[in-house]
Amino acid sequence: MKKEMHCESCLMPIKTRDDLITVWAFFKVRPYHRSCYENSLKGAALFVGNQPINGFSGNFTAFVAFILAWIPLFTDVTWGLTVVCVFIVLMRLYSFIRFEKKLSL
Ligand SMILES: [Zn+2]
Repeated sequence: MKKEMHCESCLMPIKTRDDLITVWAFFKVRPYHRSCYENSLKGAALFVGNQPINGFSGNFTAFVAFILAWIPLFTDVTWGLTVVCVFIVLMRLYSFIRFEKKLSL
């Protein structure tokens, strides 16, 4: 049984993965339509404070974070970097498992 996913902005169901944008906002990963994200959230970026987690930019960010997370193992860089980077990677995985995996392409 597939549970429907609803956009946090307009509350309508999100049908395809292509139409889904996940955003970290107010300490939670939230699903939005691509159009709703562009219309309402981009302008409010100061309040929502984030880039989409999914899509190309999110994948790229998670990839870079994954690489950076190893740096403190080999250098004197603070472990805080690892903590932040691991968090970014986990958030990317969470978004995928919780939202993207459930939608068809
Ligand atoms: Zn919407």
